[in-house]
Amino acid sequence: MAELWQLPISEASELLRSRQISAVELTRAHLDRIEQVEGAVRAYVTVTEAEALRAAEQVDGLRREGADLGPLAGIPIAIKDVISTKGVRTTCSSRMLEHYIPPYNATVMNRLRDARAIMLGKTNMDEFAMGSSTENSAFFPTRNPWDLERVPGGSSGGSAAAVAAGEAMASLGSDTGGSVRQPGALTNTVALKPTYGRVSRFGLIAFASSLDQIGPFTRSARDAALMMQAIAGYDPLDSTSVNTPTPNYSEALTGDIRGLRIGVPQEYFVEGTEPGVRAVVEQAIETLKSLGAEVGECSLPHTRYGVAAYYIIAPAECSANLARYDGVKYGYSSRELTGSLIDYVSETRAEGFGAEVKRRIMLGAYALSSGYYDAYYLKAEKVRTLIKRDFDSAFERFDALISPTSPSVAFKIGEKTADPYAMYLNDVFTIPCNLAGTCGLSMPGGFSEGLPVGVQLLGPAFGEPMLLRIADAFQAATDFHTRLAPTPPGKKKGRGR
Ligand code: GLN
Repeated sequence: MAELWQLPISEASELLRSRQISAVELTRAHLDRIEQVEGAVRAYVTVTEAEALRAAEQVDGLRREGADLGPLAGIPIAIKDVISTKGVRTTCSSRMLEHYIPPYNATVMNRLRDARAIMLGKTNMDEFAMGSSTENSAFFPTRNPWDLERVPGGSSGGSAAAVAAGEAMASLGSDTGGSVRQPGALTNTVALKPTYGRVSRFGLIAFASSLDQIGPFTRSARDAALMMQAIAGYDPLDSTSVNTPTPNYSEALTGDIRGLRIGVPQEYFVEGTEPGVRAVVEQAIETLKSLGAEVGECSLPHTRYGVAAYYIIAPAECSANLARYDGVKYGYSSRELTGSLIDYVSETRAEGFGAEVKRRIMLGAYALSSGYYDAYYLKAEKVRTLIKRDFDSAFERFDALISPTSPSVAFKIGEKTADPYAMYLNDVFTIPCNLAGTCGLSMPGGFSEGLPVGVQLLGPAFGEPMLLRIADAFQAATDFHTRLAPTPPGKKKGRGR
């Protein structure tokens, strides 16, 4: 029999419901797994062991009293450290917020609490979600459970690694330009970036507000549907939340994709993608065809301007959003506030932010300055409209599009840190979806030289049920998603060093 931490949520949830296992047992199994592998993987910034066990006891108590709880009740999950958790330190993996304890919950946390999911802790990330490898964390890099010398992707690398290593059954990340899908691809997990406005951003610490969306990591499409059911929906506390009914995501998983039209955007199959990645995606296309999908070519002609437009728009918004960290209201302060306020704020920001965050703030402030606004920011917003129109016309002909999620498999730690541009290019296939505000999903598609390859499905606004349906049908016909990363070699004695 599989160990408890190896089960998909859909199975664990049945065992909990029929009381063959308890929520405390399931939570302990994950805490033990964390203890076993965390020395090598380092997915978590904070583990909330006592709170998790207490919440699990409550679930068990309710079930003993006969309460009929939903499918996430008693399921242990991990949360990216950019999502505000009341009373639990929320750092954004930055010195700036190293000791910050939010006085309120993000809406997604209230929803998960109402679903009685169990939070195991907060996961490591690139500082303020800026990066593609989790190496920009101010604390430590997270390692890819498939190869500990390699990155798990980013910026939600901790959340991806936690699920891949069996340290949580699901997790939440945030995706501004690919930060859920790309680490999902590199760790063999299912990773969904919902449509802009589908999941509340209230309490998600802002990086680039017009692009940010919270999304789940799971091991199957079925589990992703369960997570989406819990977190999606209108929230009056987020002015960009869309007030449209939430579909039943699990019901969308019909297992049948016959006649669905899937487009292959030519611009996503160009030089620069590793041959091993390309081969996996081509094989996935064949599998979908064999399941009855109708596959045809399409074009998204403005794709090649996506990265450039994103690296104006995202830094512009970040320069405004991160202006709040001044050492006065909350967060890090360099010293007592005396003398010049400007000097004090500059010192605090110089010490509190890492190099990548500073680079983005400078780029963004420059692009927004009066002399350059029209040339850079306004131009980038126009490109954004063209990219959105590309998708609009592709989705007139196709139900979904397919592509690689990332041009490469997981790269070595340190390999790209000296070259920000090489790092930025990781998101060439994920960024356009954020610019268009549409949805995207990365699913395990196969392996190249022993490392996971993600296949990306792109959908129109509110097309999540369609993407989950395709991924679920693909998973019924393949077993890539069921393969687990090897357990890292034996834990050293004691908890830490
Ligand atoms: N890697 C991209 C960046 O560095 C995307 C990050 C994200 O989606 N949060 O901005």
